[in-house]
Amino acid sequence: MKFGGTSVADLSKMRNAASRIQSEVEDGNNVIVTVSAMAGTTNKLIDKVKEISSLYDAREYDAIVSSGENVSAGLMALQLQSMGINARSWQGWQIPMKTTDHHSNSRIEEIDIENLIKKFNSGMQVAVVAGFQGISSNSRITTLGRGGSDTTAVALAAAFKADLCDIYTDVDGVFTTDPRITENAKKLAQISYEEMLELASLGAKVLQTRSVELAMRYKVKLRVLNSFVEGSGTLVCDEEDIMEKRIVSGITCSKDEAKLTLMGIKDKPGMAGMVFDCLSKANINVDMIIQNISDDGLTDVTFSCPTSQVDVASQALEQGKSNENFNYSKLVVDKYVAKISIVGIGMRSHSGVAQTMFKALGQENINIKVISTSEIKISVLIDRKYLELAVQILHDAFELEKAQN
Ligand code: ADP
Ligand code: ASP
Ligand code: MG
Repeated sequence: MKFGGTSVADLSKMRNAASRIQSEVEDGNNVIVTVSAMAGTTNKLIDKVKEISSLYDAREYDAIVSSGENVSAGLMALQLQSMGINARSWQGWQIPMKTTDHHSNSRIEEIDIENLIKKFNSGMQVAVVAGFQGISSNSRITTLGRGGSDTTAVALAAAFKADLCDIYTDVDGVFTTDPRITENAKKLAQISYEEMLELASLGAKVLQTRSVELAMRYKVKLRVLNSFVEGSGTLVCDEEDIMEKRIVSGITCSKDEAKLTLMGIKDKPGMAGMVFDCLSKANINVDMIIQNISDDGLTDVTFSCPTSQVDVASQALEQGKSNENFNYSKLVVDKYVAKISIVGIGMRSHSGVAQTMFKALGQENINIKVISTSEIKISVLIDRKYLELAVQILHDAFELEKAQN
């Protein structure tokens, strides 16, 4: 059972979470509970780090920002003990949850479950594990990236071959789109791992992308539920187990995107390689890419990346010009774009989905700046000011309010 930041935001919310854990214990289950930091804590800690310096030591960043989870885990264990439950807290290093040393964005490599098993065998009913944390091979504290407690929970469920992995949050489950954007958003009864993976990686923060990847790989039975309202939530499962066949299951958006166009690049072999070599050396997360047909031997290359990386990307490209074979006439930057994506496994076998999407946006005079597709998703970049409107229009166009919940 994983409880996110809003589910452990204060002691009374912790008591609410603890009573859900208690019912599982009363049903005879051993439970591993993963908790996030109390709502707002991680952001505050990150702000403090950045206030000291924007060029901080990532190892100390992890030591600091992981601390919010320690407080939640200790408080939850105490709360459970006060209810007569044999519970104790575990920090990531105590498990140990072994990760890579990519500080602030580590990946779990191995979970040693011996310690937990021994304690369960000697009477522990609930292990409250601090989410988000790990330990590197250099014995430094690591963190798993924003939203990483979801991944802690799924990884533990996989390691223990748990019957279920329940992610408790502040909404009723996975919706057709972020319920905070449109009230027409509908909770889905089920969603496939593949669709959830696309939705998460394209901006739906209800589950961390990596947690869905792990659930898919290890076939973890994953549910998303509301901690405050009883309900059946959403089951993330295999495509074959989905009852309702939908063409489009969800719409998601990501607003901090920027579009950069390099104009007047020579249209000859090796040029794209040089552009993206500069960007990769500067650690830019390039997302969409398009290249136009050439005119007079010159072409344009457009790509998108997070808005926060625009300055570093521009600088890297400028510096790239020191290589005499690499040149461009102009870099045009649009910092105010958003990416809207529609996701659905039905797209594999249905035609006309792109047409419906583009037509709906066109009818509202929303200009599409870049398009990219994969087997089960179509993404477009649009002006950021149309983000909410575009989500609503597409929600209506694909009749998502009719989804079965
Ligand atoms: P927690 O603190 O419990 O981990 P998060 O804030 O990380 O919770 O994730 C839950 C939030 O994800 C919701 O409050 C909701 O606004 C947002 N969200 C975005 N897209 C979706 C979606 N398709 N379905 C449900 N929630 C979504
Ligand atoms: N507390 C961490 C964060 O805010 C991890 C999590 O909540 O999943 O990103
Ligand atoms: Mg989260």
